Amino acid sequence: MFTEQPLIYVTKDDADRIAHWDILQAFSRLSPTQQLYYWQLSDPLSSSLESSVEDIVIAKFDGNSFGLDSGGAIFVRPSRINHSCLPNVEWQWNEASGTFKLVVIRDIELGEELTISYVRAAAWRQTGKVRETQLSFPCDCPACQHETPYARASDRRRALMGRLFDDIMHREESNIALTGAQLWQNFYDAMKVKELLEEEGLLGWELAMSYYIMAGSMSRYGEDESAEYYSDMEQDYYRLFEDKFDHGLAELVDH
Ligand SMILES: [Zn+2]
Repeated sequence: MFTEQPLIYVTKDDADRIAHWDILQAFSRLSPTQQLYYWQLSDPLSSSLESSVEDIVIAKFDGNSFGLDSGGAIFVRPSRINHSCLPNVEWQWNEASGTFKLVVIRDIELGEELTISYVRAAAWRQTGKVRETQLSFPCDCPACQHETPYARASDRRRALMGRLFDDIMHREESNIALTGAQLWQNFYDAMKVKELLEEEGLLGWELAMSYYIMAGSMSRYGEDESAEYYSDMEQDYYRLFEDKFDHGLAELVDH
């Protein structure tokens, strides 16, 4: 796990957009060494020799920045990490301290590449075809090898997780105290989501949220021992994903 301050951090304007002018301003404030780092970032549009410096600066920002609630940011090391829909690292951003944190979510073998998901929040429950529309490049991770048994199973798992999660949220949002049967249903659905996440190899923040739902359902039902067990599991993750927890369950809904 490591933390890093942004090389460039540009906040959104009143229209909720990142203005090109602000990106260029931020770039011009960098020291020569920092500009060199920036220059070494990949250029997704492969700007031609005729491209202006301004165009290249913006293309590099668009292709390498992390979309944050308040704007976008470039980080020297994290911006070089490639995408996978089955990432082994998860990222989070702390708005208050302006710190970016990477958390390793599963064992990484020697020589294995670090990967993060460029698709925010809802990718865990989206099929390959949907994720494709959110990425500006073709993903070659195993979950995106359409027509392979693995990718088909992955699509089935993600679609089912999305349905189960929506069912849970639907019951929670009914504004009426849940019946015992509904609490148990939430518990079982969250347990099923947890199992599907493990099968899929998504062992990060979403897994923590399923523990959170399991603990909450059991606590309200009065099964204190189970509630405590799942709450402990959730707490282990809370330490890692504190910044994401602050966003709550809404972060996992497919908007
Ligand atoms: Zn993929």
